[in-house]
Amino acid sequence: MELVSSHPKQKKVSESEWLDWKWQIQNRIKDGSELEKTIRISSEEKEALLTCSEVFNFSATPYYLGLADPEDPNCPIRLQVLPRKEELHTRAWDRRDPLAEESYMPVKGVTHRYPDRALWYLSHVCAVYCRFCTRKRKVSQSADTPGAEDWKDAIHYFREHTEIKEVILSGGDPLNLSDSKLDYLLSELKSIPHINQVRIHTRYPVTLPMRITRELCQVLKKHFPIYLVTHFNHSKELTELVKERIGMLVKEGAVTVLNQAVLLKGINNSVGALTDLFYGLTKIGIKPYYLHQCDEVFGSSHFRVPIEEGVELMKQIRGSISGLCVPLYVVDLTGGGGKVPLPANYLEETKTSSYVFRNYKGDLYEIGF
Ligand code: SF4
Repeated sequence: MELVSSHPKQKKVSESEWLDWKWQIQNRIKDGSELEKTIRISSEEKEALLTCSEVFNFSATPYYLGLADPEDPNCPIRLQVLPRKEELHTRAWDRRDPLAEESYMPVKGVTHRYPDRALWYLSHVCAVYCRFCTRKRKVSQSADTPGAEDWKDAIHYFREHTEIKEVILSGGDPLNLSDSKLDYLLSELKSIPHINQVRIHTRYPVTLPMRITRELCQVLKKHFPIYLVTHFNHSKELTELVKERIGMLVKEGAVTVLNQAVLLKGINNSVGALTDLFYGLTKIGIKPYYLHQCDEVFGSSHFRVPIEEGVELMKQIRGSISGLCVPLYVVDLTGGGGKVPLPANYLEETKTSSYVFRNYKGDLYEIGF
């Protein structure tokens, strides 16, 4: 078997190991000494890794870390995964649970906030711990993960509550579960007559694309239709392997794939970075769905972009790329108020019998009622 990579533990890795998602999970890089064998880190980064991981664990798959520039401290992959000392700064608006998900939890592992939708947390484990994670209060701590008895309670709750039309499998990462467990859970959900659609929220297509296997596609196809929402933030994440596995998911799994990105300072807050991301996603079969304002979760203020800047970026993008590639820019209101769109204002003036608009180039156009 061809040897494809050097693992930070200095083992040669075969192609079959590298492409095995369980091998990637088992060989995640979790501390500074392993990390140093992969990329050059400064003493400041090393110290931040030690102090910040006490608050929120550090972990990355060899695959995802392999996308990082080993020399560039501003590499967009590195900035998403390596702790920085700014994480320890707390601002007045920072919250442990910004979306108040724990306050709307009728049974363990289920948030039921909007009448027609329920979020179901199936795992607290992720392949990579993203430093801006909204759920860092519980993600990476496996002790309190809902178990099989909690799943039964959740399914019972979904059956009893006929107003629920959609269940969103979330986490951590729900694709951390085995194919057989996913098959069981999807079978249960699809047997509930009032559930209209099932969605899976997962970052594994980004951080662990080898999780998308023929076997997983067969399970998902069996429960058609399945909507899968993933989370690419930068075009560097759109690798050849991603392209191959997303193609498999769409063609063999018959899955509709959407993307929600987060607007992140220094990572994707430019017209060029967002345009490359949105075109790149559409090219491989993923519809850009949402661009999120970064939530007010503790230790993430250094990632946040002012909303006016985000609105201006989206205004420039909407004018210059196909509408098919453009997601909706939204803020999820702190306290559990739900998502609010953040549109640019194009209406300049309302007259008695006409409206005046300013287009993306700054030109004025008048239209009648
Ligand atoms: S994959 Fe999602 S849930 Fe996991 S750490 Fe990243 S943002 Fe959080």
